[in-house]
Amino acid sequence: MYALEVEHLTVRFPGAERPAVEDVSFSLAPGQIAMVIGPNGSGKTTLLRAILALQPATGTVRVFGLPVRQAYPLIGYVPQHLRFDPSLPMTGREVLHMPLAAMPRAARQARLAWAAATFGLSDFLEQPLGTLSGGQLKRLLLARALLHSPKLLVLDEPEAGVDISGEYTLYQLLERLVEEQQLTVLVSSHELNIVLHVATQVLCLNRRLLGMGPPMQVLTPQALFQLYGPTVAFYRHQHGESP
Ligand code: ADP
Ligand code: MG
Repeated sequence: MYALEVEHLTVRFPGAERPAVEDVSFSLAPGQIAMVIGPNGSGKTTLLRAILALQPATGTVRVFGLPVRQAYPLIGYVPQHLRFDPSLPMTGREVLHMPLAAMPRAARQARLAWAAATFGLSDFLEQPLGTLSGGQLKRLLLARALLHSPKLLVLDEPEAGVDISGEYTLYQLLERLVEEQQLTVLVSSHELNIVLHVATQVLCLNRRLLGMGPPMQVLTPQALFQLYGPTVAFYRHQHGESP
């Protein structure tokens, strides 16, 4: 069974001349790390939000065979733009408690300890959200997205080199989780260097899906030129990476 199946997904914003995402179809087997790349405005955020049914769209999405809304317990998501009311009187610990509310106390404590250690949260767990830095907030939300052991993790442009605990980078942790738990990851990124080293599948998006496949197959100079224009194709050429 596929972890994710997307068929003919199209998003039209009211008044826009053409769809922001047009007729996108692809599927992901469990255990893939799939990276969506494309220039600013190419529809990455819109596609991820449409997949999660957070954005009205036409087409169908199934997650482990289920309609996406029914699959929410299997999904973790960190949006690109974090919106928090800074006056919200809520601490990091409370944010982490929410997805675990139904869990027995001992199991919940164990999960929280794992999250705090893995994401380096201990220093600010008791602080109100409004006092956290952008990086701290991002780490907290990453921890939250993984707390309930999702089977599909969706990340919209997490900071590329983000050091989550001083020990792991985000992508090293993801690779470990994929290996240990058969997690499937769908992440948008414009860090081509990371894409090249971490992704098992690359999706080139410019409103439409221009190509998909293993990075060395998809990230050809021609494809990068088509996607980004001359600068990036030249960059890759200069660094001598060849398929
Ligand atoms: P990316 O994440 O690749 O930078 P987005 O998905 O944010 O791209 O945006 C894709 C296109 O859709 C852009 O042209 C953007 O202006 C448009 N768009 C995004 N959100 C909205 C919205 N809420 N209303 C109207 N247009 C939108
Ligand atoms: Mg975006």
